[in-house]
Amino acid sequence: MTEVVIVGAGPAGIAAAELLLAKGLKPTLIDEGARPGGQGYRRPADDLALDMNRLMGSEAKKYASLHRRFDALVAHIDYRPGTLVWAIDGNTLHLLREGRAETIAFDKLLIASGAMDRVAPLPGWALPGVFTLGGAQVALKDQGCLIGNRVAFLGSSPLLSLAAKQYRDMGAEIAVLADTTPLMAKAAALPALLAAPRTLFRGLWYMGALLRAGTRLLHGVAPIAIEGTNRVEALVLRDSQGCERRFACDAIALGYGLKPETQLADLAGAQFAYDADFRLFLPVIDGMGRARPGLYLAGDGARIGGADAAEASGLLAAHAILADLGQMQDVASTRNLARRVQRLRQFQRGLASAFAWPKAQIASLPDTVTLCRCENVSVGEVRAAMARELGPTEVNRVKAMTRCGMGRCQGRVCGPALQEIVAAGAGNDGAAAGRLRGQAPVKPIALAAAGDPA
Ligand SMILES: Cc1cc2nc3c(=O)[nH]c(=O)nc-3n(C[C@H](O)[C@H](O)[C@H](O)COP(=O)(O)OP(=O)(O)OC[C@H]3O[C@@H](n4cnc5c(N)ncnc54)[C@H](O)[C@@H]3O)c2cc1C
Repeated sequence: MTEVVIVGAGPAGIAAAELLLAKGLKPTLIDEGARPGGQGYRRPADDLALDMNRLMGSEAKKYASLHRRFDALVAHIDYRPGTLVWAIDGNTLHLLREGRAETIAFDKLLIASGAMDRVAPLPGWALPGVFTLGGAQVALKDQGCLIGNRVAFLGSSPLLSLAAKQYRDMGAEIAVLADTTPLMAKAAALPALLAAPRTLFRGLWYMGALLRAGTRLLHGVAPIAIEGTNRVEALVLRDSQGCERRFACDAIALGYGLKPETQLADLAGAQFAYDADFRLFLPVIDGMGRARPGLYLAGDGARIGGADAAEASGLLAAHAILADLGQMQDVASTRNLARRVQRLRQFQRGLASAFAWPKAQIASLPDTVTLCRCENVSVGEVRAAMARELGPTEVNRVKAMTRCGMGRCQGRVCGPALQEIVAAGAGNDGAAAGRLRGQAPVKPIALAAAGDPA
């Protein structure tokens, strides 16, 4: 039987597994998480008494439906939770499960590896108490913990108001929600945002709920620093009127939108192209999610689109796999799915200007700010390397000279900011700065698990 392996048990991977099973295949579904659902629809441990209806709000029905469907599916597929895919070598995946190394061969590989936060550094961001926005949500949904009692939300992302509302509902005090994009930019993006009116109104409703509850909501701020001696004590910023303001807090959630998790796609041989709207290199795929023969990408790991787009693109990729295996597909329904995915992903382009990536703020960071937290490399060290005679103007060369992006996270956190600093330093655009190439292991593993290199 054809071995179809799916990486990622979020909405994209689950939807694909369902369709493949319905069409007579028995896919393997691998996820490093202990439970299914992916990031947004993360399922808490059974013994955590979390009110998911309250936490998921308007998405509670979709959340419940995905998990019901997964529960009906799981006995009929090869589901491998708690299993990290850390390398890809030809048609073999290298896995790590409960500390043991395993391999699995595939004929068709669907990568639905989701996304992670995009973070812009600022002075003080390495202090204990600073979390990524997604990290703050994981603490809440996975472990039922708040990152602090009085939390400031900083960045530019539609998830800021969602996460702040979730934190408020769970008993945290919101020190401030500070968005770096001005309100005018949001108003200008409205026509593009109307591509997904339901999502737009949901976002506005979250903001309205925060305002009604008395949360301080600022737009167009310029972050100055996170202050604290041994941990976070305050967020200091300049508001849109130019006044410096200090908000006392004991934790900060920092997020500038999401970026696709593309290391596995890179290792599996996908090509990449620069997208100027998102200022990111994205894997090249056709309308069905094919990246090359036998390799399919779906969900946020291919293009940020949200959970609905993830499900639809997972289905599309499953249709592509079935078609490539010679099964006839219903052209009308795949066409409808493709249109839906395109519309939802178009909405994300509107979001990219309503919640802008702060490239100018990053380019003007002081030299003293830590850029790579894993290897403790400052912005100034990167600039100094570039300023040498024949200094590098491309991120992989800068990484080789400075170790920026060479640590535990493999540049997944500092990579986007490094790209902006290199682009600004060389007087180029983001495309010329290049992208950090994916390297195995994509996440830290014990040396023993990697096996004997001989
Ligand atoms: C931290 C975070 C929080 C979010 N919270 C919300 C929210 O509250 N509401 C909302 O609407 N949207 C939220 N989003 C966005 C939302 O998660 C996505 O739009 C949606 O879940 C995408 O579905 P997906 O199937 O593409 O990927 P995901 O749901 O992200 O699933 C991807 C899965 O792939 C697995 N994976 C990745 N790499 C590997 C690997 N190397 N080996 C094994 N498994 C791997 C991950 O463990 C994950 O379970 C969040 C995103 C992030 C990153």
